[in-house]
Formats: sequence, structure tokens, C-alpha cells
Amino acid sequence: MLYLFDIDGTLVDTAGAGMASLKEATASLFGDEGPELNLAGSTDLAIVAQIHTHFGVESTRERFEEYIDLYLTRLDWNLSHGGFQGLVYDGVTDLLAKLAEHPDASIGLLTGNAKGGAASKMRHFGLSDHFSFGAFGCDHADRNQLGPIALARASALVGREFSPQETWVIGDTPKDIDCAHAIGARCLAVATGYFTTAQLAAHGADQVVESLAEASIWS
Ligand SMILES: [Mg+2]
Repeated sequence: MLYLFDIDGTLVDTAGAGMASLKEATASLFGDEGPELNLAGSTDLAIVAQIHTHFGVESTRERFEEYIDLYLTRLDWNLSHGGFQGLVYDGVTDLLAKLAEHPDASIGLLTGNAKGGAASKMRHFGLSDHFSFGAFGCDHADRNQLGPIALARASALVGREFSPQETWVIGDTPKDIDCAHAIGARCLAVATGYFTTAQLAAHGADQVVESLAEASIWS
């Protein structure tokens, strides 16, 4: 089985460090904090494009990289010095440990975070060792396009193909559910983010839990 984890709202809560870092990067590049952003389930490519559009500049790859470099500097600082408490959600550490012991389980990331931001968050919360591959918010602006990328990287790393039927996407938003179903995978939705179990179930999640402490997908 292949398990693809979202980060924010699913594994960890950065207590606003991500949003603060975006605002700081935007302010340093454009002079103010920019538009209201809805981060839930979005990709960094889409978020930065929205910021560029707000300020009337073309959102090129070069401008994205420039923005993300600034953002990552702010994120690293905020996570380690910024007074953002943050936490790893209940059940995450145990679930990852159980999956790591399981001979047939492969674990990766499927996140809207750019690769550097994902690495920074995983490092800060001590989860880096669990994730050797992933699909990221710098790979495509459309989250629904990240599933095939994650499957291809999993296959390259593990040395065999993974079918969508043996793949779980674990996330906290309707966009995670859509992203799972876009490749024919199942979604375990967790209500540790902004959405309730009822909202996630209504959106068609294949399994819904209050926290990953309740998850039983490894069996
Ligand atoms: Mg999330």
C-alpha cells in the first residue's frame, strides 16, 4: 500500500507560521501584505500566482522561485524563533511509526507546500525521516495534478508500480479528497484542520476520522 500525506492540518499545525511567512515575503517584495489568502488545500504555485496577479505582475517561474526563496527564509526563522508554538497532531507519530514497521507500506508526501517548505516543516517537527519522496506545490499549481507525480516518484523509489486502488491520500480538506479521487485513490480525511468530519464525509471522503489517532488504514 502507498500512503500519501498532506502536511498542514493533517500532520502538523504551524500555528500561523506559514501564513505569517507568506505575508512577510509579500511585504518585503511588494510593500504590503497583499490579498487575503485561502491556504486550505491550495498549492504554493497557485498562492504565489494569486499574489503576483494581485500586484499586477506576470507570475513566471523565476518570480515564483524568487518569492519562495524569501518565503523559506521567513518560514525557517518563524518556525525556530518566531513564537509560533505549533504541534504535531495526535496520533501522527504513532501512525507513521506503525506504517514504517509495515513491510508493505510506502509513505510519501502529497502537499501544496513547495518542496523546501515541506522539508522545513518536516525537519522542524522531527518528521523528516518518514518521508523520502513526495509531490509538492512547486510541481503543479493544480493539486489534482500532484497525484500522478506522487505515484511516479513512489514507483521510481520503491521499484514497482502502485495502482490507485492500493493508494490512500490522507488530508484535511475537500481539495485533498478531490485530489485522491482524481487518480482513483481513496481518501482518509482527518478533521484536525478547518473542516469537520461531517463536511469531509459530505464531500465524499472514503474514511473520516476526528484525528489520526483513530486511523486504521494500515490494517
Ligand atoms: Mg492541509
